[in-house]
Amino acid sequence: MSAQIIDGRAAARELKADLATAAKELRGDGLGIGLATVMVGDEFSSVAYERRLRRLATELDVPHLSRRLPATAGQASVTSVVEELNADPSVSGILLFRPLPPHIDEAAVFRAIDPAKDIEAVHPENAGLLALGIPRFVPSTAASVFHLLDTWLDSVGEDRADFYHRSLIVVVGRSNNVGKPCVSLGFARQAAVESVDEWASSSGGLARHTRQADVLVVAAGRAGLVTAEHVRDGTVVIDVGINALTTPDGTVHMVGDVDFDAVAPRARAITPVPGGVGPVTDVWLLNNTVLAAQLAAGRVP
Ligand code: NAP
Repeated sequence: MSAQIIDGRAAARELKADLATAAKELRGDGLGIGLATVMVGDEFSSVAYERRLRRLATELDVPHLSRRLPATAGQASVTSVVEELNADPSVSGILLFRPLPPHIDEAAVFRAIDPAKDIEAVHPENAGLLALGIPRFVPSTAASVFHLLDTWLDSVGEDRADFYHRSLIVVVGRSNNVGKPCVSLGFARQAAVESVDEWASSSGGLARHTRQADVLVVAAGRAGLVTAEHVRDGTVVIDVGINALTTPDGTVHMVGDVDFDAVAPRARAITPVPGGVGPVTDVWLLNNTVLAAQLAAGRVP
């Protein structure tokens, strides 16, 4: 069996074209669309993510406001930047880069974000709406996972509802920003969903869960965690992980949580890293920024 490669870059290009049109129309109507990002410290992955978002925002003609604080910034300074952005009418969406330095109470900063600008649904109000199946914003990574699945199903001519109703989706990783939202989106599609965290791996039980999966979503942040023994033939594999590996000659490679070469021969379809979930996530974040502007203007998209 040779897996179909689910091409995230192509999906992102299509989404971007639709989004550019929507953003242009809204700007023409005078709506305030703007993405604000807040970074505390200069963690490598956050800096790279911000650079990609800035490029994308420029391409889509969406203003991007970058607020950076030193890693030593205290809770009050971080909260005060968030409050400033809440009050700024030119900002429709706020993204706070994670991880935050350990002395910052992340949940408290999340609670400080205006729920109407909380495009990653980290505020308890938005996380709750998502868990109830009535999201205001769908966090960009989980949205991308299911966008790729949905569009892949369309491309192979499978009925989405039929596929999800008879599928078990296993989600490896249970973070608030990726794993749990993926579980909620699986429920929303009336699939059976199983969530696995580090305990399953450390007790040697990971394969017991993952081998049952029709769809396997891996978001653990552990390079090569899922290998051939963890999947059965015909599984659809979505690799969310992004891990930087440095080779002995100093070259840095991005790899996922899935050992692509080992798993691809068994999978029905698989996302690569890079070029899978990541590019769609970036566009989805801008999509949520535009959606926030629409909602603020009382428009139901
Ligand atoms: P996170 O906050 O560190 O959460 C990782 C989750 O994985 C935790 O629930 C953890 O379990 C679980 N886990 C860790 N090791 C495990 C193992 N060996 N077996 C099973 N579960 C394990 O990370 P995150 O923010 O969710 O991100 C996960 C990965 O996705 C990272 O590589 C990140 O860079 C990547 N990511 C990619 C995108 C994209 O657009 N492609 C976007 C966001 C994140 P415990 O709860 O027990 O600790």
